[in-house]
Amino acid sequence: LADLVARNAAERPGHDAVRDLSGGAPLTLSWSAFDAAVSAEAARLRASGVRPGQRVAVGLPDGAAYCVAVFGALRADAVVVPFGADSVTRELDSVFGQAEPVVVVAAPDDAAAPGCAERCGARVLPPPDPAAPAPDTPPAERAPADPERIALIVFTSGTTGRPRGVQLSHRALLANREQAGQLRPAPVNAVDRVLLALPLFHIYGFAAGLVQVCWAGATVVLPGRFEPGRVIDAVVDERVSVIAGVPSMFRALLDLGAGPGEGTAPDTDPDTATGADTAHDTASAADPGADRLRRALGGVRLCTSGGAPLPAGWLADFRTATGLELHEGYGLTEGGPVITSNDLGRPAKPGSVGRPLPGVELQLVDTAGRPIDAPEPEPDADELDLDDGTEVGDDTGLIALRGPNLFSGYWPDGSGGPDEDGWFVTADVAYRDSDGDLHLVDRSSDLVIVNGFNVYPREVEQVIAELEAVAEVAVVGVPDDRTGAAVKAVVVPVPGAELTAEQVTEHCAARLARFKRPAAVAFADELPRTPTGKIARQTLARM
Ligand code: ATP
Repeated sequence: LADLVARNAAERPGHDAVRDLSGGAPLTLSWSAFDAAVSAEAARLRASGVRPGQRVAVGLPDGAAYCVAVFGALRADAVVVPFGADSVTRELDSVFGQAEPVVVVAAPDDAAAPGCAERCGARVLPPPDPAAPAPDTPPAERAPADPERIALIVFTSGTTGRPRGVQLSHRALLANREQAGQLRPAPVNAVDRVLLALPLFHIYGFAAGLVQVCWAGATVVLPGRFEPGRVIDAVVDERVSVIAGVPSMFRALLDLGAGPGEGTAPDTDPDTATGADTAHDTASAADPGADRLRRALGGVRLCTSGGAPLPAGWLADFRTATGLELHEGYGLTEGGPVITSNDLGRPAKPGSVGRPLPGVELQLVDTAGRPIDAPEPEPDADELDLDDGTEVGDDTGLIALRGPNLFSGYWPDGSGGPDEDGWFVTADVAYRDSDGDLHLVDRSSDLVIVNGFNVYPREVEQVIAELEAVAEVAVVGVPDDRTGAAVKAVVVPVPGAELTAEQVTEHCAARLARFKRPAAVAFADELPRTPTGKIARQTLARM
């Protein structure tokens, strides 16, 4: 992977590789400066005793130093174990205890990492200097480039339980970049400036974001901690052409754009606006609140969303507010990570995650791993008997995958990886519509089993979200003495809206089979989320 940086340094040395806006003054790394800093970091790690195949854990805030630390470790032929810079002791003890890193690269103010590193015998290093010149000493002897070498062990955030280390080889990560690079229009071109409003310690931000930028020789713009006003400013000032995010981040941009015009919105006065190109600066004179997001995103050609379901209403709102499509894809760490994408050249289909990338084989299987029958058209809601527990869509199945992008099993022994025929069965339940586009139903682990009947939380959430007074909703299973489990809905009302539990229950009663209806409705100001925007259902169920 680190050779991608070297290739760009040779082919486009002066071109911006990284724009880091996380600190006081923006920091720019050209591809040659990035490459030099990566070599310096590899030399530092080797001097600290890191040998090929050993683990280097990296947990820094998103920025240039993070990019240098990760690619430096890869150039030293180490295996990178990314962790969130705000991880707590319990999480890091689990991750370090499993991965046994020899070095931990952590921020000076990291309260948890040093103690956890000490407990597992790892040495702690401060962040690398992104402006470091290349070392004078010739690079150390490198192991022959074996594409099956593990590049990354990613501990998935554990929305389903204890974090597990997903081993991703150089082969898998590069194959997935090539597969994504074959989409037309390409997700990243060499001329693009790609804003990643995504945590880089997560596979989506790292591989589909940063490594895809390296693959294309483009520029990555890192705005620092997610704050909608900051992101909008960065889009304008940095002439961003591609934005990759998770649904909750796009929602936050929409909410800011729909505001009354205060905050850190770009300068809307054509006489004083500076630093933006013509496309970004094209304004209509309509309502300033609704108009400013459209103005700010005027030079953006592509917005992609993944990692969590994109509610159809948010897609529609985004279209109305910006005139842009929000292209949803589906992926998972074990897939390197991108598996499907909406056609990037056409209007996005609400609720669908599109089709598999070229080179990714996908089939729907039953719990015994047998392929289910060919796709049938979605059942018509009118034909469903809502009270007898009929399953919606008998054509739903677990997503099974095959391709060169798949992981090499879980750390440490490689167990749980693709079977001998190369297939890996995920925990995601989906169906194909009559066009062949994929729709995710839910994770099998999120299933709530009421009296033996399966309830997919997402179906109930979609029904409740139809109510205008509902801003957001999450459905979880709670223990019930009589039925084993009961459906509970946690609703975030639109600010200022009047909404009662009875209204929610009545709405569901008219639209859902009895066993799917929430037995309890609670209200909250916001929903707990993971760093990648997923609803933290376990936390919610405990609350
Ligand atoms: P764990 O798997 O341990 O719960 P995690 O959630 O962090 O941890 P990831 O690999 O980051 O694991 O997330 C992958 C999962 O995210 C997928 O299996 C799927 O359930 C969900 N997901 C990804 N994209 C979408 C999408 N567009 N819509 C709905 N869910 C999605």
